[in-house]
Amino acid sequence: MNGKLIVIALGGNAFLQKDEKGTVEEQWRNVYAAAKTIVELIKMGNKVVVTHGNGPQVGNVMEWMEALKHKIPPLTMDIAGAMTQGWIGYMLQQAIQNVLIEEGLDHRYRVATIVNQVVVRSDDPAWNNPTKYVGPYYTEEEAKKLAAEKGWVVKPDPRGGWRRVVPSPDVVDNVEKEAIKTLLENNFIVIASGGGGIPVVRDEKGRHRGVEAVIDKDLAGQLLARLVGADHFIILTDVDGAYINYGKPNQQLLKVLTVSEAKKLLEQGVFGAGSMGPKVKACVRFTEATGKESFIGHLYKAISTLRGETGTKFIPG
Ligand code: ADP
Ligand code: MG
Repeated sequence: MNGKLIVIALGGNAFLQKDEKGTVEEQWRNVYAAAKTIVELIKMGNKVVVTHGNGPQVGNVMEWMEALKHKIPPLTMDIAGAMTQGWIGYMLQQAIQNVLIEEGLDHRYRVATIVNQVVVRSDDPAWNNPTKYVGPYYTEEEAKKLAAEKGWVVKPDPRGGWRRVVPSPDVVDNVEKEAIKTLLENNFIVIASGGGGIPVVRDEKGRHRGVEAVIDKDLAGQLLARLVGADHFIILTDVDGAYINYGKPNQQLLKVLTVSEAKKLLEQGVFGAGSMGPKVKACVRFTEATGKESFIGHLYKAISTLRGETGTKFIPG
């Protein structure tokens, strides 16, 4: 694979491994590992757009806001999302730039992060059924008080305690898509749609306004891939791909799936609801809409996944 436009969606493990605390040193080490993979793909003559999750990071920002709310007025979730795009975008941008210098490629490629808004519908059915747990854990009493004060929806979290829940609406458009395409045409590696994008709604005049929601980063990633005309869409995570019987002794990696096979497995619910399920759904959408292949693979196996040697490959049909 060379001379292709590739959109890469990085999972949480690109910044925080499951056994880590999330110190700055750990974050930099993980980000450099991801940056090396990205520069490998660049060396092979590809153009790359990077998107990433922000679950733990936006969770931290919301905890800070809550802890300091008597001193500093808390901000809204869309602003918290923008903060994490800046945080993670900065780290990726610097790490990729430095690896390009080490590889002697900095005269040919540059890197930029876009603070990126993603449009959702104000009448999306998800608004009637909030599902995403966000921010700090509260007691039932505190949670209900906050719900009354702020109009939040709160629910008991299966992991313990009460938390705020927000909707996870579907994606409609990427507001900065033309900026992203312009940067790509000018040999930039672009970091965009971080954390699924800052969720905004659009009015009849085309004006945007931030909303309190969480967009799935894989779903936003496939939209980004389609809008920039990517040849490939690849989701990198902490497992080798999508399995059947995952976690059981007879688990088996699904090496190649047609869109219709993948849809059948999604209906059967064989993929984790908040984890592998959205990744498979995103690949199905990309491949169905474009007729091009998409992939799920391990963060450290991007190239062999794109070659079809490891991971899960989605093909039309
Ligand atoms: P990311 O942060 O990369 O988005 P997630 O934790 O959301 O990662 O999703 C990856 C996780 O999905 C894996 O670590 C695994 O525990 C879980 N998972 C659930 N069902 C499956 C499945 N059928 N095949 C593979 N992984 C699965
Ligand atoms: Mg995750």
